[in-house]
Formats: sequence, C-alpha cells, structure tokens
Amino acid sequence: MVIREFENGRSLLARLEHGEEIIGQITSIIREKDIRAGQLSVIGALEQAEIGYYDQVSHIYQGIQINEPVELASCSGNISLLKGQPYVHVHAVLSGRKGMVWAGHLTSGRIFAAELYVLELVGADLIRSEDNVTGLNLWGDE
Ligand code: ZN
Repeated sequence: MVIREFENGRSLLARLEHGEEIIGQITSIIREKDIRAGQLSVIGALEQAEIGYYDQVSHIYQGIQINEPVELASCSGNISLLKGQPYVHVHAVLSGRKGMVWAGHLTSGRIFAAELYVLELVGADLIRSEDNVTGLNLWGDE
C-alpha cells in the first residue's frame, strides 16, 4: 500500500474545445499549468470514444471503440508523474441514446462539449513506475 498526504492547491474549471481529443486536451492543460498531482472530473458529451478493459491475466488493454455520440455520465481521474511528466489517468461511464452504458479506462474521445474540474494537490512528487505484479504503471512509495 502507498499512502501520501497533500495540501489542496489551485482549483481549475475549464470548458474544453469542441472537436478536440479529450485526453490530449486535459494533458496539455495540466502540463501548461504545471499541475503535478491532483484529482479531476469531467461532465459533458463526446462524439466518439475509445475505452480500455485491462485483462488481468494477459496484462494487455483490450480497446473498445464507441462510434456514436455519448454522454460523459461520470468521468473521474487523477494526475501524477509518469516518466517525469504530469500524466492523467481517467475512467469514464459513457451513456448512449437509449441509456445503455460503456465504462472503463478512457483512452481517447472526441469532445462535443465538456467541462473539466481539476483540484491540484501539493506535496512531494507522486511517481508512477511499472509494477511487476500487475504490469501497470502504479504509484511508487518514494
Ligand atoms: Zn485505468
């Protein structure tokens, strides 16, 4: 287990840009604002998306392509450092026309309209590195 304490830093609200790719846009905002740790949420809608399901046996992400407009019914994530750069890890519940949902690791999505909230957390660097057991880039204890 890894437990770290932080102080609350800046809070950001941003209206994301129609037609842009959501993970890239969030990443460029947090890097521009130099947010090295934090928590985030997004509400809005995407024109299309790709989510990932991580196979815990093969340690490979299976991509699930969603080629229709969806609501970002719930979307949350966090910010930490990977390879020296601020990195966002985002999960989402996406809902379609009849209320069916897809959920998982949000790999990419084209923004229809989206509102981002970021809470910066200030403290020692929180660094992701490859975990031998899970194959994932997880927070280290230093
Ligand atoms: Zn994930």
